[in-house]
Amino acid sequence: MSTTRHAEIAGAGFAGLTAAIALRQRGWTVRVHERGEELRALGAGIFLWHNSLQVLRDLGAYDRVRDGAHRPPFYETRIHNATASKETFFGTEYLTMTREHLHRGLADAAVEAGVEIVTGSQVVGADAEGALTLESGETLQADLIVGADGVRSKVRDSLGFAYERTSSRDGIARVLIPRDREYVGGDWDNVIDMWNFAPRVMRVLYVPCNDDWLYLGLMAPNEDEEAARVPIDLRTWVDMFPFLERALQRVAELPSARRDTYETRVLDSWVRGRVALIGDAAHAMCPALAQGAGCGMVNGYTLAASVNGGDVRQSLAEWESGFRGYTDRCQTRSAWFAETRSMSRGNQFTPEMLETAAFDPTLAVASGVTR
Ligand SMILES: Cc1cc2nc3c(=O)[nH]c(=O)nc-3n(C[C@H](O)[C@H](O)[C@H](O)COP(=O)(O)OP(=O)(O)OC[C@H]3O[C@@H](n4cnc5c(N)ncnc54)[C@H](O)[C@@H]3O)c2cc1C
Repeated sequence: MSTTRHAEIAGAGFAGLTAAIALRQRGWTVRVHERGEELRALGAGIFLWHNSLQVLRDLGAYDRVRDGAHRPPFYETRIHNATASKETFFGTEYLTMTREHLHRGLADAAVEAGVEIVTGSQVVGADAEGALTLESGETLQADLIVGADGVRSKVRDSLGFAYERTSSRDGIARVLIPRDREYVGGDWDNVIDMWNFAPRVMRVLYVPCNDDWLYLGLMAPNEDEEAARVPIDLRTWVDMFPFLERALQRVAELPSARRDTYETRVLDSWVRGRVALIGDAAHAMCPALAQGAGCGMVNGYTLAASVNGGDVRQSLAEWESGFRGYTDRCQTRSAWFAETRSMSRGNQFTPEMLETAAFDPTLAVASGVTR
């Protein structure tokens, strides 16, 4: 009789793919359901910090992600185009990259590990006994169900998890444009977080992703119709950031720019019986600390390590009580930054604010010490 355990995962995003690789490497059979007809990441660029980079190292996927990513020398904050700070985060490592690059790295590693990925497979719900239901009507049994199906999770909502939800007052249009030294001159390798409060609140986050691509995040209050428009209103943005005119012209020409609002969802629990939620399904957060995907990857990894033997229900409960604190604190801090916009002051990445980014889940798993 086979003793191999089986997991069904909803969602082939960063969190779902990480959990899939980590489970498969521990001997599970794993099937991932992705509703899209093809595997792809939405959005433009992304920061990954030490916590998720350690996960990638342990999964053997670090080199492929690092090659083609960028290590910025400074995180510079400017207010009204005057430098407020240039931070190096006390040596806490981080990389910037395109989302497509990270997603491809994880998807390739999952396939190499032997994960089965089914595209065009929409999940409609789950039950706590370990059944996953697809839109086709098919029901699949598993020892473990993972809901990694994003902020509008069907797995979560079909099980009636309770949550508090707070929407942010700002939104961000995210784009990738070809890199050009002319945009910002000698600082072009830095992340530059440019804030403007007068006469209106607008922010440009400048993030080099690799030699070729630059990620720009254009933040504005949802209520400011001109600044919140996509494709962007070039005059409105150039009036506030005249020195970025050439880059903004490229942005205005993009037909595919998208703008996202964001929210904080705090759930009563991440676990119900044999079902665990990870990523935005469990802990959607404001992007102020750039940690949502990183936390999702860490939680996918620690989840897999926690169910490595023993009763799945008991292991999931212990996983949540052992590891959830890091994400909860990050969510609270990110929401506070989004609400107060106080990152604009510079020097806000204190050791306390970097706690989750600097956490090493591989050490915690190896030593059994969590918080
Ligand atoms: C402006 C902005 C900037 C951000 N910057 C950063 C950053 O720099 N660093 C960082 O770590 N995080 C960042 N984040 C957060 C990050 O984008 C999210 O936390 C992350 O993408 C969540 O990953 P996920 O795998 O949980 O969900 P998703 O990326 O949403 O993936 C879910 C997957 O599930 C699939 N799916 C959904 N429903 C179903 C279904 N019913 N059946 C089957 N499949 C389904 C989707 O198609 C998708 O592929 C940012 C967020 C925003 C809004």
